[in-house]
Amino acid sequence: MDFISQLWEIDSPESARDYLTNLAGEPIRVQNFINNEFQDHSKANGWIDSFDPRSGKPLAQVPRSTTSEVDLAVDAASQAFQSWSKISRQERSNILLRIASVICRKKEVFATWESIDQGKPLARARVEIERAISNFRYFATYILHDEGTVRFIDGQPSTLTYEHRSPVGVFGLISPWNMPLYLLTWKIAPCIAFGCTGVAKPSEVTSISAFSLRQADLPPGVMNIIFGDGPGAGSALVQCPRVRGISFTGGTSTGIQIRRETVTDIGKHVSLELGGKNPTLIFDDVDLDQAVPVAASAAFENSGQICLCGSRIYVQSSIMNRFLSVFVEYVKKNYQLGQTIGPVVSREHYSKVRSYLDQAQEEGASFFTGVVPEAEPAHGYWIAPTVLGNIPRDSRVMREEIFGPVVSICSFETEDEAIQLANDNPNGLSSVLLTQDVSRMRRVGERIDAGLVWVNCWLVRELSTAFGGMKSSGVGREGGTHSRDVFTNLRTIHVR
Ligand code: NAD
Repeated sequence: MDFISQLWEIDSPESARDYLTNLAGEPIRVQNFINNEFQDHSKANGWIDSFDPRSGKPLAQVPRSTTSEVDLAVDAASQAFQSWSKISRQERSNILLRIASVICRKKEVFATWESIDQGKPLARARVEIERAISNFRYFATYILHDEGTVRFIDGQPSTLTYEHRSPVGVFGLISPWNMPLYLLTWKIAPCIAFGCTGVAKPSEVTSISAFSLRQADLPPGVMNIIFGDGPGAGSALVQCPRVRGISFTGGTSTGIQIRRETVTDIGKHVSLELGGKNPTLIFDDVDLDQAVPVAASAAFENSGQICLCGSRIYVQSSIMNRFLSVFVEYVKKNYQLGQTIGPVVSREHYSKVRSYLDQAQEEGASFFTGVVPEAEPAHGYWIAPTVLGNIPRDSRVMREEIFGPVVSICSFETEDEAIQLANDNPNGLSSVLLTQDVSRMRRVGERIDAGLVWVNCWLVRELSTAFGGMKSSGVGREGGTHSRDVFTNLRTIHVR
């Protein structure tokens, strides 16, 4: 069956549900896309089942690609690199803008399938598709206005020195399941804008938006999309010597594995955007009507499945009781399962999140909202927004990334203690600081171990600024000139 042409015409959750009903349990079969052609998957490695998070029923089958399928994709990208790396910036820019406009025209198609496949509410999916479009538009124009350093050497006015950049080569682009198209295009757009070619491997858990991306007119061989699991296709891509760079977003343990597997290939560019266990600090000078919605959206947006979610809330003790009652009421009113908050993505992830809630209960935590969900979910992977208190500071619940709709609340007394608690974690991706004291914004903001600090806001992003984490949350930065560093090689030339 020609699934892709059918998916491409479905632009509302209602028509998607009708379509799935007509399929009568037959899963959508996703195909690898190499050199502008869909490939028949070699049956040798079989398929990976992917499920509808709202119902738990089979939704798609994803090729468990073999090393030889990965090699074919790398062949195509290597071949395409010869010409793609040489065409003008203007031409590349035009192609990126064309991709953006195709996604824009079909944004309801992308939002519909992203919402079904990942479980996120349609409104959330729409925001992410808009951001995917911005990724292409941003890098399409960035490359037209890019500047480098040119100088005459001091004391030798006849010698000119300048910086020259060239595209690195073939990249492996590996992305997770929480914001599938947004995070994949955050890699694809700069990769092809800076003249590299690539093999993208989306998460096997959410593959439909990447499958549909082919329809957006990607140039042949320049961007190839293969599906598969991490230890198989992902690792084959990482270890392939012809792949000259890896841009990876995902969990910290996978990042460590990738670092291990690339350690001897010293020239391979490796950018790792990893997990977080992010603190939200709430000082006693805040206006709760403004602070509570920020803290709540940081905790529960996308069911807490955003690496930047603030899952540890520290509140100054003098306002703890007042904060808690306003926060709990706000969460109950604004984060309702099935409406503003979806299920978690998969059965495996449901069990992981549940195990933390189970542990919290065993440790005597207070559940201000939420419960430990059933061990065997009967109909989809639904976990209610959960607000926990009275958790020991050294509990795994407080220290490890849960990546679900779970937030823990603790108190602090002084500014120094707030900073110490925020930094007492192996991760350092992002943080939220809620205060009205302008000097504190800097005093505290500049001491938090986090690649991103948001003061009185959350998830605000400007694509030209650095994105990435400190400590275990990653290596390198992406965004604007930082993405240019990932995807280009820099040489300094001296001409007399
Ligand atoms: P994951 O690490 O399990 O998988 C991410 C991707 O890596 C998938 O495509 C997977 O197939 C692939 N993969 C897995 N093992 C691999 C291996 N050995 N070699 C190569 N590829 C491999 O992560 P996930 O569960 O999909 O995503 C959730 C994690 O991603 C969370 O920890 C979250 O914080 C993190 N994340 C980080 C950011 C960021 O920007 N820092 C953004 C989103 C998500």
